[in-house]
Amino acid sequence: MKKEFVVIGLGRFGGSIVSELIELGANVMAIDITPSKVDEYADIATQAVVADTTDESALLSLGIRNFQHVIVAIGENIQASILTTLILKEIGVPKLTVKAQNEYHKKLLEKLGADHIVRPERDMGIRVANNVLSNNILDYLELSEEHSIAEIIVDGKVAGRTIIELNIRAKYGINIVAIKRQESIMISPQADEEILEGDVLIVIGSDSDIHNFEKKLF
Ligand code: ATP
Ligand code: ATP
Ligand code: CA
Repeated sequence: MKKEFVVIGLGRFGGSIVSELIELGANVMAIDITPSKVDEYADIATQAVVADTTDESALLSLGIRNFQHVIVAIGENIQASILTTLILKEIGVPKLTVKAQNEYHKKLLEKLGADHIVRPERDMGIRVANNVLSNNILDYLELSEEHSIAEIIVDGKVAGRTIIELNIRAKYGINIVAIKRQESIMISPQADEEILEGDVLIVIGSDSDIHNFEKKLF
């Protein structure tokens, strides 16, 4: 059975979620208060509907309660975002992902019981900063305030050595969770695995340990 989602708010953020979910084979009901936005997604989404999601009866008549996961991508209008989240919680939507505009908005959404809160501009800013700062860090995914997953591409220094020779966990405090090598991916590599030039190491650890590791070895 196809996975089903509702995306509320068809700005650049919500809109790209709709397109990507469809691309990945999911069913998506796309909702916006602005008819021109809904028109844009009429041929893309499984269903595209004009509605004001701060109106509980409108949400109920759309059968929102039958969906497993709703994504609220209303940004600038914080009041609409909060009201929508509150109503969706009351209706009893099992899973709610909400875009926050700032730290206060995020705190409020947490208190309302949103399951997952995202701040795309901030998160992307962090990723871009890490990418431009290092030639070897390809991607950076924040897990918490202090911990991340990073993709580090291997060149000169460590190529040809094994994980155990480099004694990575003991020496740098980070874990290699996977190694991408051309088309294949090794999950939980063995300690005696030799690291090759061009490998992409997927590591998990504290931000400072990841940066120290990258600085010392690359
Ligand atoms: P972007 O992702 O482009 O940066 P944004 O975060 O700036 O978007 P907005 O443009 O403020 O967010 O809102 C996204 C969409 O949410 C808009 O298309 C807007 O019409 C829609 N929206 C705002 N209020 C409501 C509402 N009450 N009900 C449904 N949709 C709404
Ligand atoms: P530890 O005492 O750190 O738990 P271990 O008993 O699991 O290590 P091995 O698996 O043989 O011993 O690994 C020896 C060393 O190699 C580890 O201490 C660590 O420094 C490094 N190592 C092994 N696997 C990884 C990994 N996936 N990521 C980072 N370092 C690793
Ligand atoms: Ca915006």
